[in-house]
Amino acid sequence: MHKRLFIPGPVDVLPQVLEQMTRPMIGHRTKDASALQGSIADKMRKLMFTENEILLSTSSGSGLMEGAVRSCTARKAAVFSIGAFGDRWYKMAVSNGVPADLFESELGQPTTAEQVEAALSTGAYDLITITHNETATGIANNLEELAPVIARYPDVVFCVDSVSSLGGHKIEADRLGIDILITSTQKCLGLPPGLAICSISEKAVKRAEQVPNRGLYFDLLELYKFVKTKPYQYPSTPALSLMYALDYQLDRIMEEGMEQRFARHSKMAGIVQDWARTNFALFGNPDYLSQTVTCIDNVSGVSVSALNGKLADFNYMISGGYGKIKDRTFRIAHMADTTPEQITELLATIDKVLPELKA
Ligand SMILES: *Cc1c(COP(=O)(O)O)cnc(C)c1O
Repeated sequence: MHKRLFIPGPVDVLPQVLEQMTRPMIGHRTKDASALQGSIADKMRKLMFTENEILLSTSSGSGLMEGAVRSCTARKAAVFSIGAFGDRWYKMAVSNGVPADLFESELGQPTTAEQVEAALSTGAYDLITITHNETATGIANNLEELAPVIARYPDVVFCVDSVSSLGGHKIEADRLGIDILITSTQKCLGLPPGLAICSISEKAVKRAEQVPNRGLYFDLLELYKFVKTKPYQYPSTPALSLMYALDYQLDRIMEEGMEQRFARHSKMAGIVQDWARTNFALFGNPDYLSQTVTCIDNVSGVSVSALNGKLADFNYMISGGYGKIKDRTFRIAHMADTTPEQITELLATIDKVLPELKA
């Protein structure tokens, strides 16, 4: 029996979306393949609120995160971390030999405009990475606070990890001046894992042209050239099945309506937050709570694996903590095609089994 997933990726995928992956293969150098990738790019531009080019990568989101920091840092990267995924972006820079400094916030806190200003005003950096939605802590940075500071430094390439928020949270890439906005399929987009997607500005492309060692598979310039000149092809063989599913799912997202989709995520977050405040406590700064995943401070010390064991009888699965706060928190994802009704049912089920666990 399939367990309904309330974990922050991979998420449940609707049967009609999965079915798209059973379509017959086409040659990846055909006009049909270009049309498919071009169609995805047009729809992704809408969802990212950008006019910039869209790149696909047959990898999870990490591939393009690594590609961005390596391809577009000519001098030094300022990597801002509010948890596990920011820390990983720093490791990606270091392990690729990219000069980088790490700027950490206390866990549960966002990146502040003051921190960004202090770093960029040194003039040492030509690329900045920001985690939009830190899945480990359930904290979402407020890009409205950070973008105006970054905009004062036009030489800095502005990269954002929106892997666990894009499609569930409105991010207007162009208005915010985001040069590279990265996401992947298995979170708010509601698809199986295996594809990463990013927008890329002309500024980021120009930068990559100045960076000598960009690698190859995750070289953003190589991906960009195939999009521009072929057009809309991919340097190697892409995950065509996932591309069919993505193209179809983006139509569904547009049918639901982007604003409606963001509002549904916000509503689900409110339901989980209210529940968590009554039964446990919320982890982190209450002014920066994520609208796609909630991190719950396990103040009553319930065993999360025992809880998941009980929930398994109802075919539900939630998520333990992640990273340094693994043992003191657990997480409930409310993303992709999950409905407020399903969230309410999950929480009612947890309420039902909790007394048995505390006993
Ligand atoms: C899941 C996640 C990643 C990693 O994405 P993959 O697609 O698993 O490589 C990066 N950043 C955040 C915030 C995430 O939630």
